[in-house]
Amino acid sequence: GVMVATNSAALSEVWGDIQRAAGAMERILELLKFQPGIMSPKNPHSLPAFTHDSIHFQNIFFNYPSRPEQQALHDFNLTIAPGETIALVGPSGAGKSTVFQLLLRFYAIQQGSITLGGVDIAQADIKQLRQHIAIVPQETSIFATSVMENIRFGKIAATDAEIKTAAKAAAADEFIQRLPERYDTFLGERGLRLSVGQRQRISIARAILKNAPVLLLDEATSSLDAESEKLVQDALQHLMQNRTTLVIAHRLATVLKADRIVVMNHGKIVAIGSHQQLLEQKGLYARLAALQFGEMS
Ligand code: ADP
Ligand code: MG
Repeated sequence: GVMVATNSAALSEVWGDIQRAAGAMERILELLKFQPGIMSPKNPHSLPAFTHDSIHFQNIFFNYPSRPEQQALHDFNLTIAPGETIALVGPSGAGKSTVFQLLLRFYAIQQGSITLGGVDIAQADIKQLRQHIAIVPQETSIFATSVMENIRFGKIAATDAEIKTAAKAAAADEFIQRLPERYDTFLGERGLRLSVGQRQRISIARAILKNAPVLLLDEATSSLDAESEKLVQDALQHLMQNRTTLVIAHRLATVLKADRIVVMNHGKIVAIGSHQQLLEQKGLYARLAALQFGEMS
């Protein structure tokens, strides 16, 4: 009677929890692009503190496991100084996103090495490695929860005050203050839908909150209205300060702000320089610039 009813009620509650947890787990694994073969070493080397994050890609040859015949990166060599901003440009399929995937250690490299602050990332603890790197992806994932919790994905232990400070720095506080329930406004499928520019600023707020020394920015291709564009650029400017930044750039404004531009094609670096230097070479970069980098993805 009563016992059974109570038990089954409790059971269904637990079952609900399990399903919710499983759903969340699935999303997290998807976010991490979980690769069963990628594990932390037994005695990982510790990554150095904030200020020493030079990045060194050395003689990298890489193909995706599902495509052994095709080299996604071919003899890729690049040294990035601490605090430097590098813009990666090149046509679709050049290997730009692959550079990010490898730095985050979503895949094992067949040849060569990547070091971060002098430590081979294959020798680092994966969790620590990924805590060292903030990502602003092309498309921002918005979850079915409040604005506050959506930003908190950048740093789960953050206080509400920290979240609001990050939102201000990301030029997001202003629009959040105008939402029906401000930071408590529910987002996602059954909640309020944000514009592309607003979603991007949520993503920038997450990265500011994370406060990692290395920043990977995959610039959105979708064009914004002039005002959102300016707000996003301002927010990015703030975020990139004092960090080592790699940006897959789609906008001239972003390319012009970089310390160096790395031009990629067919998995290789074909040129490195400033905007002026690369234009004068009248090569691939000049052609991409003439198209306003429109052929890239
Ligand atoms: P870009 O970002 O410059 O457009 P990518 O790094 O995404 O280029 O891709 C480089 C090459 O690797 C392309 O030929 C692409 O088709 C291939 N590639 C990218 N991601 C994967 C994947 N997950 N599995 C197999 N091949 C991939
Ligand atoms: Mg890409």
